[in-house]
Amino acid sequence: MRNYVLIVLFVLSSQTYVHAWGFWGHQRINRLAVFTLPPEMVGFYKYYIGYITENSVNPDKRRYAVPDEAPRHYIDIDIYYKFYGDSAVYKMPRYWGEAVGKFTEDTLKAYGIVPWHIFRMKNDLTRAFEKMDVPRILRLSAEIGHYIADANVPLHTTENYNGQLTNQIGIHGFWESRLPELFGDEYDIWTGQARYLEKPQLTAWEAVINAHLALDSVLRFEKELTKVFPEDKKFVYEQRNRINMRTYTKEFSKLYHDKLAGQVERRMRASVKMVGDFWLTCWIDAGKPNLSNLLDKKHENDPMRNPELDNPNGSPTKVRPHEGDTGSMETITPKELRLRLMARR
Ligand SMILES: [Zn+2]
Repeated sequence: MRNYVLIVLFVLSSQTYVHAWGFWGHQRINRLAVFTLPPEMVGFYKYYIGYITENSVNPDKRRYAVPDEAPRHYIDIDIYYKFYGDSAVYKMPRYWGEAVGKFTEDTLKAYGIVPWHIFRMKNDLTRAFEKMDVPRILRLSAEIGHYIADANVPLHTTENYNGQLTNQIGIHGFWESRLPELFGDEYDIWTGQARYLEKPQLTAWEAVINAHLALDSVLRFEKELTKVFPEDKKFVYEQRNRINMRTYTKEFSKLYHDKLAGQVERRMRASVKMVGDFWLTCWIDAGKPNLSNLLDKKHENDPMRNPELDNPNGSPTKVRPHEGDTGSMETITPKELRLRLMARR
């Protein structure tokens, strides 16, 4: 009986990989990206910051309902080593048409399409800005933020996405959920102003390259620590959403996090920066539509707006914790945010 229970728990914990960055991380990345935007954009995004933050996790929620959804979140670059050797990440066809011509759409979808999907979303968001279509601008802004954040995660660039090929099952959720939840409050995520991207498709690939380069340490450091760390101190069982889940102990997490020397923080900061850059680029490519026109009276009862931002003097903004979100959201006043942003310019 005990074995049976353990197997069930093991299956559950090994499935946590689907929530890249965890709800906490995705929400935080989208939320902080708002504050990288220029004055012409930031008012609109702040007005809807609640929507942009909460809906950052939608693509993960529909992974089991929409058949085409899953491959949009990753790319197993190592599958292509047989064509290009270990420099595959530099040699893969950058644009979708070219890649389909070489590998077929079925193959690409079988191993993940995240860099191309980001570019597709970029074009959709640009069109939504051209049409001044507020619900679409908001939905696509929230969701492109999700895919960009996923593309920055090392374990989203490999066939061995959950350590299942190297006897490290559970490492996916460990790196992208457990570590940010334990240590993310200390991260310095301020990135400066968003910048225009000349070649957004190549920028999406840069994220994949940087994530893939970090993969070796993600796996190797965990393995090295496991060898010297007492096995019974590596895992602990914790209640999460009323389920008893196996998770990595704080001691083991701390040692691993120290060994990674800021890697999770760097990938998170890169995500925030890139999300802001993409939003800005779409808006510029759409001819810089006047977003303050979209914030007129008719949106007074808009369900997408965040009433907590009503106070122009800047009451603290807090994001409602999502069901399944195990992290605590940061509370920070707009004034403090502005000061911190200015300090980094
Ligand atoms: Zn995802």
